[in-house]
Amino acid sequence: MSKEIPYKIYLEEQEMPKEWYNVRADMKKKPAPLLNPGTHQPMTLDELSGVFCRELAEQELNDTDAYIEIPEEIRNFYKMYRPSPLVRAYCLEKKLGTPAHIYYKFEGNNTSGSHKLNSAIAQAYYAKKQGLKGVTTETGAGQWGTALSMACSYFDLDCKVYMVKCSYEQKPFRREVMRTYGASVTPSPSMETNIGRKINAEFPGTTGSLGCAISEAVEVAVSTEGYRYVLGSVLSQVLLHQSVIGLETKAALDKYGIKADMIIGCAGGGSNLGGLMSPFIGEMLRGEADYEIIAVEPASCPSLTRGSYVYDFCDTGKVCPLAKMYTLGSGFIPSANHAGGLRYHGMSSVVSELYDQKLMKARSVEQTAVFEAAQQFARVEGILPAPESSHAIRVAIDEALKCKETGEAKNIVFGLTGTGYFDMYAYAAYNDKKMTDYIPTDAEIAASLAKTPKF
Ligand SMILES: *Cc1c(COP(=O)(O)O)cnc(C)c1O
Repeated sequence: MSKEIPYKIYLEEQEMPKEWYNVRADMKKKPAPLLNPGTHQPMTLDELSGVFCRELAEQELNDTDAYIEIPEEIRNFYKMYRPSPLVRAYCLEKKLGTPAHIYYKFEGNNTSGSHKLNSAIAQAYYAKKQGLKGVTTETGAGQWGTALSMACSYFDLDCKVYMVKCSYEQKPFRREVMRTYGASVTPSPSMETNIGRKINAEFPGTTGSLGCAISEAVEVAVSTEGYRYVLGSVLSQVLLHQSVIGLETKAALDKYGIKADMIIGCAGGGSNLGGLMSPFIGEMLRGEADYEIIAVEPASCPSLTRGSYVYDFCDTGKVCPLAKMYTLGSGFIPSANHAGGLRYHGMSSVVSELYDQKLMKARSVEQTAVFEAAQQFARVEGILPAPESSHAIRVAIDEALKCKETGEAKNIVFGLTGTGYFDMYAYAAYNDKKMTDYIPTDAEIAASLAKTPKF
């Protein structure tokens, strides 16, 4: 059954998934549960419901239902910008002279510029359904804050964003997009929260970190009537929502009788890769098919390739539940010269467990090599990729070049998570040849890991 493959493989609206796929249901060994930081017992639904919306807390704990219905209102919102195209990268293949067939799933076709809207709209929907007034969150590079602002304005919810101070200063336009959608944006660490004041006193002049912004957002959510905290990555509920990426990809490939050999995704907290690979990993777990799956992370923040698989704090203030994950330690802050996102110290517990079971591989890449791939891709494929996405591009190109040597016509699928218009300082550094690579030493990582909780 060989049809000519078009440049863009679209699904029809009626072919879009009506259910998310929960890969945990097919895992024999489940991801380790979140633990209460005080008692070290698994977090209960009631405990989680104090922080998250009730239905999202249920999804967080659900590792038995393989399919969870996507509510109609969310499906209708998805229809505005989905299905996202699966593109055959004919132009890149030609430029590389590779016999490999390269496909990318492009999630940058919405104003937030990334896949994050897929989960933001779901989280805002459940908050609204519960009758909440608003939500709080953190944002690093700004994509998540933007996506959540869009979702909250759609459902008329208040949205308070704590934005890592250095991004707040470096990305004023991201901030303005969020404000345009009605969100309030506060640079973190701020003087508005106990944890923010404490961190400012301890580290005067600090430009903040994701871990610190999370602590602030959680503190405000749990101490304000009618508010809950929402998170854009790492959590199992977020991977569940992002499974829409993988389900669409699989449906589009199936439509043309294409069997992927390799699936590649960048990994920050693990949500886009987790979502992209879920239905494929599901087939592997059920013994139906086999794929080579590769997570790509920055060499400057290498949680899978150099971290430890242990329980750790999710935030600097240690107010969140403990999660078992590949981690560099909650105090780990990537070097200031690290340009892109993907700077979280830990990794989704689902991705961590699958990696530990050797169902997937991980690779780390240096940022100058990432921007080289970004530039090469932009020049032939007509999309300016986000630096995060470009980690996946780097490895897709490397694999396609290997195929050139071996003559194999592998089907390589990668996630192109977003666009890079707000990352022009990073592109400028690359174009001016001022970009450098920083790889943490073993001693630095060991010192940070020494501070993970022992029990
Ligand atoms: C947030 C983000 C990522 C990384 O987050 P994951 O949870 O690992 O998917 C990757 N690409 C873009 C464009 C992002 O905005």
